[in-house]
Amino acid sequence: MNMNTKPENNREEITGRNYVTRRFASPYPAFVALAIAAALFPNPAVGQLKLESLNANGRLTWNDPGGTGTHYAVQWTTAELTNWYSWQDAQARLSGLGPTGSVYVPMFYRMVSPDPTYHSNAYYSYFEGLPAFNPITPLETNEMRITFMGSMIPLPVRRAQAEMSVFVEVGWTPDPKDTYYQGRAVDQFVFDCGAGVSANYAASVVGFRRMDKVFINHLHGDHMSDLTHIYTFGPSGDRKSPLYVFGQGPSGLESPTNSTIYYDDGVSNFCAHLREACRWHSESFSFQPTRYTNYVAPTRLSWGLPHDPVPVSNDTYDDAYAMVPITLNWRNVGVAYHNPETRAKVTHYPVIHARKGSMGYMLEWTPPGATKPLTMIYSSDTKPETNSVNLACNGTNGVDVFIHEMVVPPTVWAYKQMGLDAPPADTNSAAYASYLAAVNQLSLVQDSSHTPQGAYGYLLSQISPPPRLAVATHFPVADDTVASAFNSVQAHCTNIVFGKDIVWSFDQMVLRVFPDRVVQCRAVVSDYAWNPPVQLPTNGMYAPKYNDGKGNGDPYAQIDQSTSYSQTNNNGTVNWRSDGY
Ligand SMILES: [Zn+2]
Ligand SMILES: [Zn+2]
Repeated sequence: MNMNTKPENNREEITGRNYVTRRFASPYPAFVALAIAAALFPNPAVGQLKLESLNANGRLTWNDPGGTGTHYAVQWTTAELTNWYSWQDAQARLSGLGPTGSVYVPMFYRMVSPDPTYHSNAYYSYFEGLPAFNPITPLETNEMRITFMGSMIPLPVRRAQAEMSVFVEVGWTPDPKDTYYQGRAVDQFVFDCGAGVSANYAASVVGFRRMDKVFINHLHGDHMSDLTHIYTFGPSGDRKSPLYVFGQGPSGLESPTNSTIYYDDGVSNFCAHLREACRWHSESFSFQPTRYTNYVAPTRLSWGLPHDPVPVSNDTYDDAYAMVPITLNWRNVGVAYHNPETRAKVTHYPVIHARKGSMGYMLEWTPPGATKPLTMIYSSDTKPETNSVNLACNGTNGVDVFIHEMVVPPTVWAYKQMGLDAPPADTNSAAYASYLAAVNQLSLVQDSSHTPQGAYGYLLSQISPPPRLAVATHFPVADDTVASAFNSVQAHCTNIVFGKDIVWSFDQMVLRVFPDRVVQCRAVVSDYAWNPPVQLPTNGMYAPKYNDGKGNGDPYAQIDQSTSYSQTNNNGTVNWRSDGY
């Protein structure tokens, strides 16, 4: 590819003065060539950097009327991979090169594009290039479908990326009576449910009924915040049955060491308190029915659980406001769920993250007629460790989809959190001092709890056979961060192909896993979605807890109406209409 190649992507125009090609979405990046201009944007009127040429090997020639050392041009290419992995590497090589020059440049942090609306830190072009997909499409009978409902590391919750949640459905049972979904998945699983993910579930028209089994990898807020929403509003939607929450047993840690204080920080106590914290909500909405007359509760045997499923409070076993924790022994690899009817099995395993108790999960599901299961691993948050790798090797079978977390380097993390796209320029400034302090803090966070970009590549290099698709998640994606990350991964996995062997997750990315292939798509959803239609049986519900004695729900039982305006006056005039108009 050279500078005169006709662009194939809608933002690959090569026109006018800025000459930058971007070939990132599809086909996969034989070549990504870009430039950054550290001092370009603050005062673009003075001395625009002009890139004169850029050849297929990444040889960049420029003219920089702004002066020596003010601009840094950086490019990333699979053909010319060198040892530049960071802004500093690029800066060291490029500063002071003079107003004109020519150099091989391997990586970027900011692109210069002829598209004035383009910012490399505000697009994830690869995702945008994926084929569109309607999330209401019935699954194939041999399909495992993985949808990213959240994909972000905190902080923040992004509008583009909610915090973590991975929704997985397997198989399909058609149902002609279901006029909306046309049937249902054989089984389904919510892995983590951090802040903001509820909007993505609603946009993907996933009703609460399909979110009744939540597997929490660890009890950080970015992995469980939206449990409150799922729990409280499920019974107002189509989950008229209990919520099952799988998670860690207590850490057993003295907190802190030598304090003689031990907290019950496991999922059971978490659920017990959450359930009571939501008491006002659950009572107030219990004028609506919350129990099927024919609900068949799962048992330890039927779901292959490590213990009997028991609600945390005095809710009956079949009530939609019953919260049922399933406590997993985080110290061991063990079975969290193994349903012989649906042929789905979830294995939990210890990872290393923040505090003892964090777990990863592996899901295996054997399609009808198949001998070999489809397999998925979701590590959630962890520093590099051996369990994820061992399970991903899966004997010698490998796994279909390996979803593992990744963090940007502490330097990038620090300056991005300062609202910058590079470290503060003045190394004597207060801003630079706080940048260094942040780098220091974030290095501690990374080293104790997370997987750096290069370490992700190292992990992949240890997995044999390699996963059919590796997915980096819990990662703030944009073209700049992803290109940098891929570069670091490639250093360990020279032949790895972006888009084919590895991708970075994004909200509404859908992976359709079949025995012979993994298909990547982009769910097209509405930002104005309502919940999917609630389709409940017309009978077969117990009378609501608050009822009028005749089986009808009584929404007035819990309010004091003494200050209420009446709709009509004694003389018959109307104050307000009860039909809403
Ligand atoms: Zn965490
Ligand atoms: Zn996290």
